[in-house]
Amino acid sequence: MIPFSPPRIDDKVCNEVVAALKSGWITTGPRTKKFEKEITAYCGNKATLCLNSATAGLEIILRWFGVGEGDEVILPAYTYSATANVVIHCGARPVFVDVNAGDFNIDPEEIEKAITSKTKVIMPVDFGGMPCDYNAITKLAIDNKNKFVAANEIQKKLGRILVLSDSAHSFGASSGTKKAGALCDVSVFSFHAVKNLSTAEGGAVALNFEEPLFNNEEIYKYLCVKTLHGQNKDALAKTQKGNWRYDIIEAGYKCNMTDLSAAIGLVELERYDNDTQVKRKHIIDSYNKLLGNDNRFQLPLFEDGGRKSSYHLYPLRIKEITEEQRDAIMREIFEKDVSVNVHFIPVPAMSFYRNLGYDARVFKTTWDNYSREISLPVFYDLTDEQIKTVTQAVIESVNKVLEKQNAG
Ligand SMILES: *Cc1c(COP(=O)(O)O)cnc(C)c1O
Repeated sequence: MIPFSPPRIDDKVCNEVVAALKSGWITTGPRTKKFEKEITAYCGNKATLCLNSATAGLEIILRWFGVGEGDEVILPAYTYSATANVVIHCGARPVFVDVNAGDFNIDPEEIEKAITSKTKVIMPVDFGGMPCDYNAITKLAIDNKNKFVAANEIQKKLGRILVLSDSAHSFGASSGTKKAGALCDVSVFSFHAVKNLSTAEGGAVALNFEEPLFNNEEIYKYLCVKTLHGQNKDALAKTQKGNWRYDIIEAGYKCNMTDLSAAIGLVELERYDNDTQVKRKHIIDSYNKLLGNDNRFQLPLFEDGGRKSSYHLYPLRIKEITEEQRDAIMREIFEKDVSVNVHFIPVPAMSFYRNLGYDARVFKTTWDNYSREISLPVFYDLTDEQIKTVTQAVIESVNKVLEKQNAG
């Protein structure tokens, strides 16, 4: 069976994790702090906080911004449920909007229609690793300043809707001369096991607020406290001789990154550009070459107008098929021992959201993308032979299902 996206676990990763274990420091410590600094240097944002997941990062920023009951957060219908769940956690209302057909990303024109005086945050998602149009989205936030009702000091200071990017897929992606993390106010990366850069579980909040209006380093320090019980001293600081007394300044959360995760992250970051990304690009180019001549396939977009993807997914679409045909094609592909996936079942189609009254089918492009999409395996250890096996399985399965359809 060809798996979908197993993590790369080699001796280098194992040795660094063992080194972290043997150092005696396994919770948040020197490796996490080093990883944060290296992410900031790599992405070109202003300060970075590592946490145990992207979900925690998104939620902590919503809470820091004071998002709560009565507030609205605009996000694409076409995303993983985490993007919407964190809005629910805060007691606010997710306002789903439709996406583009070209790159699967949130459609700025649809965002504009959804902005009200209750809108506090826009949460775009860099689908498959392709950055959204943050110039257009940030401009919408600025142009709609007059609609923004600030409810606290932070909101007053920003004076507009916050642009919080769900960059779970887009570590290393770029737009113009800037990398993901430096494209809007705040971006949150995921280092979950299936993501491009994995730390087993993990995430990072890339702060990029305009200075000197905001002091990103100060926000970072405050968020360290907020994500560790509201405790004014972390474990590292408490190891200093006699420095035992601490205070709790708020009922904070507990979602810090461990140094074991950071040890993996440091290895992965060092080889990200000249190894991981080279391999992922090779896989994507190979799929494009092997599937590109068949006009039943709609190939994904990885580059255009200065934007460059991080090659997180290969979201293939098959032209003019129904959801049922897509499911039948996937069954055939699995029969050939190839693992594929769908990104994503639209969030408003999930029971929890349906029960709140949402309806996914009103988002026409989202529903069309979803019905015709099959994500192919992309991972470091995928061989050229396996790439051929995958594309053959896809082509044969499409032949079988669509011919059956034509015959019947
Ligand atoms: C993976 C993913 C997340 C959640 O990341 P975690 O690190 O698992 O919390 C959020 N949004 C999208 C689009 C994702 O794919």
